[in-house]
Amino acid sequence: MDGSTAKRVRELLRQVPSYAYFCWARQEANDDAGLAPIPMPRKLSIGLAFGEPGFGFGEFTFVQDLEGQVYIDTECTSRKTLQRMLSRLLESAIFDTDQDPERHRKYNANRGRRCARSCAVCFPPEAAPNG
Ligand SMILES: [Zn+2]
Repeated sequence: MDGSTAKRVRELLRQVPSYAYFCWARQEANDDAGLAPIPMPRKLSIGLAFGEPGFGFGEFTFVQDLEGQVYIDTECTSRKTLQRMLSRLLESAIFDTDQDPERHRKYNANRGRRCARSCAVCFPPEAAPNG
C-alpha cells in the first residue's frame, strides 16, 4: 500500500461511526432439558456488530455451550477492544432502573411494562392529587 492509499484508508476509518449492537442470535435446542422452566440451550451464539472511528468495524461472536462455557471469536482484536465495545453496548442500553422520563417511557413501551403508582418517574410527587 503506497502512502496516498494508506492515507485514504486512514481517512475512511476515521469516518466509521461508533456503534455496538447485537446483530444475530442462534440457539440449538437442548432435547434433554426435561421440564426445566428455562432450559439451557445445547449451544447459544450471539453476534455483536461494532464500529469505531479510526478503528473500523467488525463482529464478535459469543458462543456458550451446554456447560455454560463462553467462547469468543474476536476477529483477532484485543481483549481491550472487546471490553470497549461491550461498554459501548451497555452505555447505549436502556435499563429498567433508568430515571430519565424519556428512557423510562421507552423501556416500558418496549418491554410491555406498566408502572404502579409508587413509580416516581411515571407518577411524580408534584403531580399527585392533594399533594
Ligand atoms: Zn414508571
